[in-house]
Amino acid sequence: MKFESKPDNLAEVSEEKEIKPEVRKRYLQKLAERIGTGVLASQLLLAGGGFIQEYNQIKKSVGVESLEGETGEAWQKILNGLPKGVVGEVESSRIKFLPQESAPRAGYQFLDSAPERRVAGRYERTPGLSPEIRIYNDPSDKEFLFHQGRGVLIHELGHANSWDEDEELNKEEREALHVAVSKRIHAENRHLSTYVESLEDDDAKKQEYWAEIFKEYFVSPNDLSYEDFILVDRVVRKQDPDFNLLEYVKTSRETLVQVYNPEMKAEKVKKNVKLGMESSNLEEKLNELLRLSQQKNAS
Ligand SMILES: [Zn+2]
Repeated sequence: MKFESKPDNLAEVSEEKEIKPEVRKRYLQKLAERIGTGVLASQLLLAGGGFIQEYNQIKKSVGVESLEGETGEAWQKILNGLPKGVVGEVESSRIKFLPQESAPRAGYQFLDSAPERRVAGRYERTPGLSPEIRIYNDPSDKEFLFHQGRGVLIHELGHANSWDEDEELNKEEREALHVAVSKRIHAENRHLSTYVESLEDDDAKKQEYWAEIFKEYFVSPNDLSYEDFILVDRVVRKQDPDFNLLEYVKTSRETLVQVYNPEMKAEKVKKNVKLGMESSNLEEKLNELLRLSQQKNAS
């Protein structure tokens, strides 16, 4: 599928007249549930055309479960291959794609720190509603899927599996994770992300550092230090003790290569297609990380 490319501008706001009264009423009810009826009146007065813009965004969104074709299958595979407890934090009907141009700039991943990036993602938890992930890009864009899409989706799932959000963690585990990540953001051998480094507020840094190492765990685990690897590994093992990370990394890379360039045979991936590193190195480093992690868990 392709989104109709139509920027969020005044032309969109002027669409207000076209929204049928019953649709508008339903939307307002939804909005009222989200922000609480007490605040609703003042919010609407303040927001002006803002809610029309949001309505237009929601109207244009595409759920991950309704994606079709080969990119649709690839997205499903990438998602379904993840540990059940990790994916289960967000209902698949609440993982949505929206047109890139509808992404507001402030507060959205990547856009502030790297304006040239083509993508943004957002994890949103609104009291009374189940959490939602929004990805601002066309899911049928193969280049996006290959280079960044999987990472953005998993980064947002990282927020859903944090010390604040993960349903499977107990109080002690939440506290331990929070303390550990608070230390990691200032550690000399911390995972370097231009996005995280660009943030000044420590709370934001912690949240984003966690989402970034969470993403790296599933995308390029051999790029993580042991200290970061084990933090994510503990959370993942708690939810799915038998999860085969090596298999997941290999399979999802093969899936991406096949979608992006059908001439490249999956067989080549195993012999190191240029995906940033050698697969043999991945396997070796990953086995070492897993071994260390098991030792630590046993002791
Ligand atoms: Zn984030």
